[in-house]
Amino acid sequence: MYSGGHILASGALALISSKRLDIQFVKLAPVMIATNLLDTDHLKYFYLDDGTANSLVMHPAHIYAGVLFFLIFFVGLIYKKLQYWSFAVSGAVALHLTGDAISFWLNYNILLLGMIDALLLIFIAISAKRINTGLPFIPLMVFFATAEILSSAVQAYLAFVLKLVPQENIIVFIVSPVIFLLTAITFWLMFKKYRVKVKTILN
Ligand SMILES: [Zn+2]
Repeated sequence: MYSGGHILASGALALISSKRLDIQFVKLAPVMIATNLLDTDHLKYFYLDDGTANSLVMHPAHIYAGVLFFLIFFVGLIYKKLQYWSFAVSGAVALHLTGDAISFWLNYNILLLGMIDALLLIFIAISAKRINTGLPFIPLMVFFATAEILSSAVQAYLAFVLKLVPQENIIVFIVSPVIFLLTAITFWLMFKKYRVKVKTILN
């Protein structure tokens, strides 16, 4: 999946998980976005990847993601307080792999993946209206739409304007992890003021 899709998928999962697991969305969303840093492993063997490789069989962190998934799950087994967090974050790791599997299945078709992004954005909009995230709706939507458009624009610029060949330019694969990191940090900086410090049971 391209960066924008991963960010939107993480945002969508964070919305559902925050409601179901009673975790503050403002904390969960940046953590879930950051799990996409799994893509840092694209730097290894980048010379074998034309940008459409199957990450699940080529990139080390993806191949061994089962270990990471189990470790996060196990933390929840040991520390009861972290149970919901562990459930949510291991889900985010699984979702990243699912996104990559779907993208490979779709041959990284830009049009189809763009349609998935649009559907994810609509899903986020509907969910954010229905779920009390504690965050203002418009800035939240502007954030996710901008994150998608900007990351797609950067990747399109590298591919179609600079015409970088992925196998020869490691920069192509540095871009995604940088985007995920900046997006997670920006989200936190923009919305951290909405976090609830003392947990109250509302219902
Ligand atoms: Zn990946």
